[in-house]
Amino acid sequence: MKPRILVVEDEPRIQRLVCDNLEAEGYRVVAASDGDSGLAAARTGGLALILLDVMLPKMDGFDLCKRLREEGNRTPILFLTARDLPHDRVAGLEAGGDDYLVKPFHLDELLARVRALLRRSDWSTSSVQERIPLGEGWFDLNTHEAMSVDGTIETLPLKELGIMKLLLEARGGIVDRHKILDEVWGGEAEPTTRTVDNFVVRLRRRFEKDPGRPELILTVRGVGYRLGNPKREVKT
Ligand code: CA
Repeated sequence: MKPRILVVEDEPRIQRLVCDNLEAEGYRVVAASDGDSGLAAARTGGLALILLDVMLPKMDGFDLCKRLREEGNRTPILFLTARDLPHDRVAGLEAGGDDYLVKPFHLDELLARVRALLRRSDWSTSSVQERIPLGEGWFDLNTHEAMSVDGTIETLPLKELGIMKLLLEARGGIVDRHKILDEVWGGEAEPTTRTVDNFVVRLRRRFEKDPGRPELILTVRGVGYRLGNPKREVKT
């Protein structure tokens, strides 16, 4: 499912321009035109990113951002502002913002920043708030907790979580081991696809009833992995 982005911007022309371009990139977009409705929209959750104008009617962007952070909302925030005073950059970051873009901006730059923020937050601070069932267990992209097949609940290490997120996003499609390396290990020194395999072994030990005969995390020989779709046993 495509990430959902909230755009809080009171100037109709800019709001439309930004929303149209995000939609053209395949994102799902929600728009708000003042601080109050922006806060209400942000509170509904399920957002991957918030683009937040600073000068807004009813509540300015800094206050909106502060309120969300105080409420424990960690959705990444990219401030959009006409002002380019060092003071404002600091204020934006102090309020809990993640990045800053000064108007007028190039759309290419906006889209590049959006992609960068989504990548950065993708699997470490996911805003998806739900438990994903996996066999007899589950994992939670928000709290990073996971319940194993034996019922123990532990915090899933970030790399294991990253692999599960990629498999989940592929919805049963094959995820190449090199893609997993790129996305989960990034620029770290010299991991190999063997490393990915080792982490998959650990995931199988957690979630599979019989790790030697996996039904949930399947190997696609020479390529990578995909999620299986095991038939649930009906208990009578
Ligand atoms: Ca404004």
